[in-house]
Amino acid sequence: MTTQTSSPQRIPLAGVIGSPVSHSKSPQLHRHWLKTYGIAGYYIPMDISSGDLATVLSTLPNMGFVGVNVTIPHKESVMQIADLITDRASLIGAANTLIFRKDGKIHADNTDGYGFIENLRINAPSWVPSSGPAAVLGAGGAARAVVASLIDAGVPEIRLSNRTRVRAEQLRADFGSRLVIYDWVQAGNMVDDAALLVNTTSLGMVGKGELRVPMDGLRAATVVTDLVYAPLKTALLATAEEAGCVTVDGLGMLLHQAVPAFERWFGKRPEVDRATRAAALR
Ligand code: NAP
Repeated sequence: MTTQTSSPQRIPLAGVIGSPVSHSKSPQLHRHWLKTYGIAGYYIPMDISSGDLATVLSTLPNMGFVGVNVTIPHKESVMQIADLITDRASLIGAANTLIFRKDGKIHADNTDGYGFIENLRINAPSWVPSSGPAAVLGAGGAARAVVASLIDAGVPEIRLSNRTRVRAEQLRADFGSRLVIYDWVQAGNMVDDAALLVNTTSLGMVGKGELRVPMDGLRAATVVTDLVYAPLKTALLATAEEAGCVTVDGLGMLLHQAVPAFERWFGKRPEVDRATRAAALR
């Protein structure tokens, strides 16, 4: 907990903490919204080592920071420092957003699941969560947010496959019997009658390996989304497009997860529109 001295004229500051942070698109995104809405505020990328995390978080509120986004490797460790944790962040076991409250308390939230569902709601309106199983590739931090949001949205069955099976089994232990685990070598079998297919692995991203899960069983009725957004059209999305599927890229999730944070920090709920996408891609 920190003590915050505040003055009504103080310019609100926010930013992203991680290491590295140079790749983050959040500065372009938040700066675009600050400019669009004429808000006198700043958003700053901050490369912070794990050893400095606690000191930095206790100091930022005194410098005028109203909150920060959190990225790798601090998403889990900030949970130990926060005074208040939302249920969804607690369930996921990681936070991507911190709000520095006026009473000095640090509030941790995870908006990745919100961003994931909102991206689908807007860009794949034909997808009805209760209509059938979802197939999820991967069991890392992002998968935890995705699975939590799919359960919350009412998906009846979530098929999950991860290279390291024990990680998928941990998700089943944490999230319950709606999850059905498939071996990584049989991941292709999950897609057959799935209403939704989600790649939460880093495969397909520039500089990473290719996603080699066979997609022979993919039907046009399956909505396919990839959390990877560099490139925007991953090989998975290209294959899905060829199969006639509705596809949704990962950039929308990144944009939508930022909406609740910006609103809490700067008091304005921002729009995610074409200009927002263009700003994030700049
Ligand atoms: P993470 O916790 O490090 O998890 C990485 C996942 O990818 C694990 O399931 C891992 O499997 C799998 N993986 C990595 N290399 C693999 C390989 N060679 N073969 C098979 N599986 C492999 O990372 P994360 O935070 O979940 O992020 C995952 C991806 O989602 C990243 O590309 C990230 O940029 C993206 N993401 C996007 C958004 C968005 O807003 N669009 C938000 C969050 C994350 P193992 O468990 O076997 O290692």
